[in-house]
Amino acid sequence: MVNLKRMLPDELTGVLAAQGEPAYRARQLFAWIHGRGARGFDEMTSLPRSLRERLAEIADLGLLTPVSRQEDPRDGTVKFLLRLNDDAGNTVETVRMTYSYGYSACVSSQVGCHIGCRFCASSIGGLIRNLTAAEMIEQLILLNRDLAVRDPQARIARVVIMGMGEPMENLTEVLRFLRLAHEPEGCGIGWRHMTVSTSGLVPGIEALAAEDLPITLAVSLHAPNDEVRNRLMPINRRYPLGQLMPACRRYAEATGRRLTFEYVLIGGVNDLPEHARELARLLRGMLCHVNLIPLNPVAGRGLEPSPPQAMAAFQRILREGGVAATLRRQLGTAIDAACGQLRRRLLEAPVP
Ligand code: SAH
Repeated sequence: MVNLKRMLPDELTGVLAAQGEPAYRARQLFAWIHGRGARGFDEMTSLPRSLRERLAEIADLGLLTPVSRQEDPRDGTVKFLLRLNDDAGNTVETVRMTYSYGYSACVSSQVGCHIGCRFCASSIGGLIRNLTAAEMIEQLILLNRDLAVRDPQARIARVVIMGMGEPMENLTEVLRFLRLAHEPEGCGIGWRHMTVSTSGLVPGIEALAAEDLPITLAVSLHAPNDEVRNRLMPINRRYPLGQLMPACRRYAEATGRRLTFEYVLIGGVNDLPEHARELARLLRGMLCHVNLIPLNPVAGRGLEPSPPQAMAAFQRILREGGVAATLRRQLGTAIDAACGQLRRRLLEAPVP
């Protein structure tokens, strides 16, 4: 069976040409799969029945199966746990957030993760495998289809690869996913509305810069110096700040895009005024913006969120130091919509 979901329109043209079909059929097929989120060939009513039947024999739509859907009644955040089509029945999370400017999807790029950040639930159980581009775009398609039930006009406008996994370890499939998501007859996400978030893999940052796409790079910094960062993120021993920061500068220069630095505030660990001053010195003069994130505590890790006054003071010091900083609103707290926490619950208490 050929997986149609991972194919760009040109590639679908090839598959359909082999069936003796003209190129416009490929565009129609792409629009059914990606634009309308068809879950079966029988839904594709603008295609001739005979073609639909032939496709059903040779091709599959790479569907994932929702295991659960949770919605936070306070802020509209929706989180799906999706079962992948593999023998192990692996699951991944995908989240839709509602902002004043529209809908945003948070997509996972791997099952599990082996980066091992101390505060993150995704590394529990280690890395199981990379997701394919088909499995990533399916997350977006399912979130759009779910949205259309309520509001047929509504579409997700932004994508952040900030779900489970480290996208730079799976860059080939991530790039294919972004190209699929960009297609106007599919999900139609603008390049400038895409963000790839990394724990700081320098070769990945360089490879992404070489693609020359105007997408936003987000770097999970979480510390103003190597000592604190080593404690929180073992990856820093491989790519310390002396390598990471120049790679970030080069990315900003090569793409002209403003970088985002993510900074999870952890009580007493990285949230002190001296940390904020050191961070302001580290980032001064760079085309960037700091996204301060309240810690979502993971049981058993012994890390506490930063008190609200400390977070406000941290932001103020950064701003006074000439660095743009926003404090991220916490979304989806009523539904464990943070960082591997829903899958983790499922792993601990498997549903029958
Ligand atoms: N591996 C990539 C992308 C996935 S993590 C990366 O590290 O950037 C997406 C973001 O969620 C990262 O900034 C990560 O540090 C943050 N994060 C992970 N666990 C968290 C937690 N418990 N509370 C708040 N943010 C968390």
